[in-house]
Amino acid sequence: MQKTISNRIEYSGIGLHTGKITKIAFVPAMPDTGIKFRRTDLKGRPEIPATSDFFIEMPVMCSCVGLENGTRVQLIEHLMAVFCAYGIDNLIIEIDNEEPPFEDGSSKFVVEMIKNAGIKEQDAPDRIFRLSKPVVFKQEDIEITAFPSDSFRVSFFGSYNHPLIGTSAYSMEMDAENFSREIAPAKTFCFEEDVEKMRKVGLLKGASENSALVFGKESLLVGELQYPDEAIRHKLLDLIGDLYLLGARLLAHVTASRSGHITHARFVKLLRKEIIK
Ligand SMILES: [Zn+2]
Repeated sequence: MQKTISNRIEYSGIGLHTGKITKIAFVPAMPDTGIKFRRTDLKGRPEIPATSDFFIEMPVMCSCVGLENGTRVQLIEHLMAVFCAYGIDNLIIEIDNEEPPFEDGSSKFVVEMIKNAGIKEQDAPDRIFRLSKPVVFKQEDIEITAFPSDSFRVSFFGSYNHPLIGTSAYSMEMDAENFSREIAPAKTFCFEEDVEKMRKVGLLKGASENSALVFGKESLLVGELQYPDEAIRHKLLDLIGDLYLLGARLLAHVTASRSGHITHARFVKLLRKEIIK
């Protein structure tokens, strides 16, 4: 059965790049609506489906969906990962700016919102994508593969030239409780040099000491690790969120190596082609 939430729920907070106080509301939606963002600050309250067809490749390190007229919502991945974990098929996200609240750079507040709103089963069959054969995406040293499976498993392999991250992997069978405990609290991370670059182009206006983990050359400069492998866990969180741009639940084992938002979206487009064939 498809799922939505039981009750409307609202939340306000500051956007990481815009620095603006933004209000979001999760609103229950009819079967087969999918996940859609609704810009309540714009005339006509335009809606943007959160699927790979609407993905916009941005120079900043986040996932963005938008319409041809320039209407967009960016930094959606931390929300999408939670919708995926909880199997939410249908939902409208009302938002009065172009970026949702960022909070501590994790998905913890989104998990709380979904738990407080409650989950409702709907009288409509599941939208599930299965694969008949593996789908492989390669771009330089990045590789993402989906293997046919009876469940949804995700694995991320990362390799960083940094003593506190190094080469590591994290793999999990999708399960809402497991996700909430092991992945959702993992915070966004970046490196000292990224902060400088982003500030120079007018980003990070809403960043604070609590927004992310910032790694220096050899140490952690901002924040405190909640898990020794927190960076890789956050990469898995981002991967899960981006895979949900498929617009359906996926039964596959996805392994991703060194990938990021743009390659995730390109991979999802490839998956959609394979499934439609
Ligand atoms: Zn992220």
